[in-house]
Amino acid sequence: MVRGILTLRCPRCYRGPLFKGLIDMPERCPVCGLIYEREHGYFVGAMAISYGLAVGLVAIIFFGLLAITRWPLEWVLLVASVAFLPLAPLCLRYSRALWMYLDRRIDPIDPVDR
Ligand SMILES: [Zn+2]
Repeated sequence: MVRGILTLRCPRCYRGPLFKGLIDMPERCPVCGLIYEREHGYFVGAMAISYGLAVGLVAIIFFGLLAITRWPLEWVLLVASVAFLPLAPLCLRYSRALWMYLDRRIDPIDPVDR
């Protein structure tokens, strides 16, 4: 499961890719046919995970800069926030993967099967 999350693979078959571009998701898994967006607004839950990941990454960059520079706090925060921006797509991808794996762990029955 951890490998599936790290390699961004389908939470059911662990083989189909979750993304076909940087942030584009196919509607279904090309291998097993699992519908990735289970219901309308399904990925709203991933936004909470994304927020947590983003705050964590900005904090790591912030404290890293604070340790190696003597810049004022405002500048460190500004630079840390700007330095995070290229990591935002990565944050989206992993937050969606984490959300899908967590959701399927809690509720493994697909809507089609109900
Ligand atoms: Zn699959």
